[in-house]
Amino acid sequence: MRDVLPEEARRWRLVEDRLRDCLLASAYEEIHLPLLEATELFSRGVGEATDIVEKEMYSLLDRDGDSMTLRPEGTAGCVRAMLQRGLLYNQTQRVFYAGDMFRYERPQKGRYRQFYQLGAETFGFPGPDIEAELIYLGAQFWEALGIAEHVRLEINNLGTVTERQAFKDALVAYLTPHSDVLDVDSQRRLQTNPLRILDSKDAATQDLLHDAPELTQFLGPESTEHFDGLRATLDALEVPYTVNARLVRGLDYYTHTVFEWITDSLGAQGTVCAGGRYNGLVELLGGKATPGAGFALGLERVLLLHEAVSQEDVNLQISTAADVYVCVLDQQFHPWCLDLARKLRAALPGIRIRTHAGAGKLKNQLRRADQCGVRIALMIGADEMSAGTVTVKYLRGEAEQQTLTLEQAANALRGYFKIGP
Ligand code: ATP
Ligand code: MG
Repeated sequence: MRDVLPEEARRWRLVEDRLRDCLLASAYEEIHLPLLEATELFSRGVGEATDIVEKEMYSLLDRDGDSMTLRPEGTAGCVRAMLQRGLLYNQTQRVFYAGDMFRYERPQKGRYRQFYQLGAETFGFPGPDIEAELIYLGAQFWEALGIAEHVRLEINNLGTVTERQAFKDALVAYLTPHSDVLDVDSQRRLQTNPLRILDSKDAATQDLLHDAPELTQFLGPESTEHFDGLRATLDALEVPYTVNARLVRGLDYYTHTVFEWITDSLGAQGTVCAGGRYNGLVELLGGKATPGAGFALGLERVLLLHEAVSQEDVNLQISTAADVYVCVLDQQFHPWCLDLARKLRAALPGIRIRTHAGAGKLKNQLRRADQCGVRIALMIGADEMSAGTVTVKYLRGEAEQQTLTLEQAANALRGYFKIGP
């Protein structure tokens, strides 16, 4: 679990704001969901045999002895909320959330135990148009961040639950006689979650998979048509993609389309955004069968990518702490200094004004001002107090210091920082 200090937090805000703007501009509505949910929600919704439920959850007993879990992902909680609030009756939904997720993983670059996801979920849309919309939203994210050339799209068609089950059976039948060749994880998955074997990085396992049955052989005409519809839209939009028949995703609830946005610029932790359709999930969690589709984006990985490849200077967009420093020449003027700062902030939207705290000599106060990168200091002494004025000092020596009325000072700052009309 990491600390995010000011320098990284600036990039974070820049990136998150742009992603959020994309979602809001597409009329997705933001929701906030609890960090803690009943453990059962995840063991049912995510699936007993998934990595998440098997070995990654932070679970605890609360004071009533109920097992609760820090959310490892957002979709199950989102579906629970939709169901509890009756938001899926005769209506469609497009929502998004942003927040921390918790998984007990082996921490490394781009993989943390607390990480931040931006997730979008849609409900009530059975056709591939919504999957194309979700994928195209992703494409717009990368455009907005200037990293589009560094992200590629992989998609796959998992078919219906029944079709996938038939494939699973065939895969198990093929692999079982050769189970001694499989890596240890895959041997275990042969019993619990055989589709995940396709994900294995082990060379011998991958060799064995070469002649394994393929999922496409088990897909019926409706599934194929659905997937072709998605592909046709992506083609028309000129969104490049590859179909990766091995793309299965970690979570149990996916049906039909799954997709991942991947970068090759970050090493092993290359998936920056992943999603798909989950038609079975609402029913699994106690609702009426309702189509669902969504994605989750890993913000830390997007930040790493932005830092690695973007030409953009974050400090130009979101600069450091303050623009103006109000010196307190005499402690008895301190209330007036705080009030002056408030008035100037109101007159000059966007300006950041810091008021000195901790008393001390003017020389030391100006040194502090300089240290925090400020270019203008304001000073109020006894003369200014009685005249209702303020002295403006340009710390980079661009101009002589001036004693001005508050209104004149506001205008001077407006001109200096090029604020407003
Ligand atoms: P991976 O295969 O990398 O473990 P996953 O399939 O577990 O990913 P999802 O559950 O689909 O990931 O989560 C969606 C996105 O959230 C991922 O594509 C990734 O960008 C991000 N993510 C997942 N786990 C972590 C983590 N431990 N630390 C940072 N980001 C993560
Ligand atoms: Mg994972």
